[in-house]
Amino acid sequence: MFLVTTPHAWSQPVLGSLDVHWNEGAPDCTATPQDPLQVHTYEPQTFILRQSPCATFEANFLYLLVGSDKALLIDTGAVADPKEMPLAKTILELLPDKDHKKLPLLVAHTHRHLDHRAGDPQFASLPSVQTVPIDFDGVRAFFRFTNWPDGIAHVDLGGRVVDVIPTPGHNSTHVAFYDGRTGILFSGDFLMPGRLLIEDSAAYRKSAVRVVDFLKTRPLTHILGGHIELNAAGRAYRFGSHYHPNEHRLELAREDLIALPAAFESFNGFYARHPNYILTNPIHNLVAQAIIAVAVLIVIIWGVRRLLRRRRRAASAS
Ligand SMILES: [Zn+2]
Ligand SMILES: [Zn+2]
Repeated sequence: MFLVTTPHAWSQPVLGSLDVHWNEGAPDCTATPQDPLQVHTYEPQTFILRQSPCATFEANFLYLLVGSDKALLIDTGAVADPKEMPLAKTILELLPDKDHKKLPLLVAHTHRHLDHRAGDPQFASLPSVQTVPIDFDGVRAFFRFTNWPDGIAHVDLGGRVVDVIPTPGHNSTHVAFYDGRTGILFSGDFLMPGRLLIEDSAAYRKSAVRVVDFLKTRPLTHILGGHIELNAAGRAYRFGSHYHPNEHRLELAREDLIALPAAFESFNGFYARHPNYILTNPIHNLVAQAIIAVAVLIVIIWGVRRLLRRRRRAASAS
C-alpha cells in the first residue's frame, strides 16, 4: 500500500468579516472629534486597526495576528505620540494572556517608510516585544533571507505560520505577509486601493510576478494593504486630505494582483489608472513637471522680450 499525497493540500482558511465602515475622517476634524484608532475584529485571532484620517492623512491600516505562542503586528502607523495615537496600549489590550502574562509580540513592517513605523517607539520599553529592524540589511538578516528578493521566509506564531515574501519596488525593504490561517495577503503599499508609488519599476514588476507565482497554489481570501486612497469610483483623494467620503473597499482580490505584471508592462512611466489602483512614478512626474515649468518660463521670457522689442520699434518709428 502506498499513500498518495497531493503536493499542495492547503487547509481551508478561517473566514472572517469585513462588514465594517472604516472611519472616513471629516471635512473639519476639529469640529468632529473622533477616535484616533478603529479596531475591527476580522475573526477572533485577527484584528484590523485603522488610524483615523483626522489623526493622520495617511490613515494607515495595521494588522494584528494572534497565534498560540506569539502575536504579530504588521506596521505601527504614521503617528508616534501615544497621547494622539494610543497604539501600544490598544494592542496590549487585544493580546490574550498566556501563563499569566501577555502573549509575546513581534512588531514587523511592510517597509521602512515612516508612516508604517512611526509608532515603533511606543513598544520600545515593553517586555516580551521584539521589533524587526527597518533597514534593508536588518530586515534580510532578521527573516534570514539568503537570496533576496527570491526565497520565502516564515514566522511561526504557534499553530499559525505567516510567510514573508520580498516585494521591493515601492521601497527596497518592502515585504508582503501571507497568513496561512486566514488566507489573507497583507500587502502594505505594494498593492492597495490607492497610488502605487514606484521607486524601481523593474523590481516592482518582478515582485508582482513573484507574488502571483507564490499564490498560484494557495488559497487567497483577500489582499489587505496599508491605505485606502481612492473613492468607490476609483478616483484618488487629494493628497493630504483628512476626509475620505465614500471610500473604496479595503480588500482587493486575486484578479487585481494577476493584472499587476501586465499593468507594469503597459505603463507609460508616469501615471496610469486601473480599476482598483493607480500606477505612478513620483520622480518621473516631478521631472516632467520641472521640464514643463522650464518650457513655460522660456516661452514667457521669449514673449516678453518680443513684446518689449515691438514696443521699442513702435516707439522709435513714432
Ligand atoms: Zn510606502
Ligand atoms: Zn504607506
